Amino acid sequence: MTAPATESTADAFFDEAARRDAVDPLRGLRERFVASESSLVYFDGNSLGRPPRATVDRLTSFVTDEWGGRLIRGWDESWMALPFDVGDEIGTVTLGAAAGQTVVADSTTVLLYKLVRAAFDAQRAADPARVELVVDRDNFPTDRYIVEGIAKECGGTVRWIDVDLRSGVTVDLLRDAVGPRTAVVVLSHVAYRSGHLADAAALTEVAHAAGALVVWDLCHSAGSVPIALDAWDVDLAVGCTYKYLNGGPGSPAFAYVARRHQASLVPPISGWMGAADVFTMGPTFRPAEGMRRFLSGTPPILGMLAMRDTLDMIRDAGIDAVREKSIALTDFTVRLGDALLAPRGVTLASPRDAAARGGHVTFSHPAMREVTARLWQQDVLPDYRDPGGLRVGLSPLSTSFAEVTAGMAAVAAALDDVAASAGGPSAH
Ligand SMILES: *Cc1c(COP(=O)(O)O)cnc(C)c1O
Repeated sequence: MTAPATESTADAFFDEAARRDAVDPLRGLRERFVASESSLVYFDGNSLGRPPRATVDRLTSFVTDEWGGRLIRGWDESWMALPFDVGDEIGTVTLGAAAGQTVVADSTTVLLYKLVRAAFDAQRAADPARVELVVDRDNFPTDRYIVEGIAKECGGTVRWIDVDLRSGVTVDLLRDAVGPRTAVVVLSHVAYRSGHLADAAALTEVAHAAGALVVWDLCHSAGSVPIALDAWDVDLAVGCTYKYLNGGPGSPAFAYVARRHQASLVPPISGWMGAADVFTMGPTFRPAEGMRRFLSGTPPILGMLAMRDTLDMIRDAGIDAVREKSIALTDFTVRLGDALLAPRGVTLASPRDAAARGGHVTFSHPAMREVTARLWQQDVLPDYRDPGGLRVGLSPLSTSFAEVTAGMAAVAAALDDVAASAGGPSAH
């Protein structure tokens, strides 16, 4: 078995990485994350971001001072407002959304259900011919399942868009799928598998020209890609906070509802926290004005604390500088893939053009499931997505070029190990 010469190639990349880390304008941010001094390689910040060190103090003082000290008074003093305060921070720092349109609540899955269902109901009430929900076959499972579930529940139909797995939904594909029967279009801004970055402004315009409303899923773009929901005339959006916003495992999601739609959309879960008169406990549900109606039950206060530390960092750095670093990291990763992985039969499963790519890069090879399992045992943490995709997630605030180089060299070595054990005498 002749492994392609790797060492001298990797050495040149390590030298380049050291030079680039030294001049990286965001270099000071990495050390603000817990355990960033260890040699562990983290390629999964797009799935569960690292915790900021500041979060340790924030959570501790919340427990001792606010929860422990203020007890039930905390609700009136600040917690009732927190879903809207943190929502506005997310909106202004990462979404291009003016205040009063973003709220933190639930999970992405639940918020997606609430917004898609509310949009579908409103569209069909205005025009009974609008019974179609449009979604692409490569969208994240929860998005596809929610759309299918709503169609079943409400007697609608799903119109599927077939996409190239290495890219995503284009203007031409969407134009062919929408029309006078379309109620709602559900799209992901950055495709979870390929990393394809959709042209959200142009796609929103195509949907609007057909009279449809659009719900954008921003899980893989919020915090790494500049977003301009107000400027793009977006109707509705949802997204995760535990990915690039480092909110911690299971931290609640956010929902954006453009101000022009807030009075006409009624969420399908009529809980007391979304009622106009929360504490009069009246006999019937009347939806609150503004974003409050999109709350259902008691807000998950603990879960929305950690993300504020990352929002502070993104605000200070500026989302354009974050995107610049993100592109530099993904470009560097693509070059490492060309040099170290392509000679081993690996193909790039993400767009080569940085302008069409979000914050992660996927490489494809039949052995990647086994390669990922081996790497996890060596403290190199990418993730695996069928079919044969190893995903390299590059969190711009916490990832260094040296870390990327070490991780990609480890992927190459693991591919050789897997090939050697498959071809060796112990193979069955
Ligand atoms: C991560 C992700 C989700 C996750 O939804 P949860 O309700 O938080 O589990 C949804 N959509 C996309 C596109 C994602 O990447």
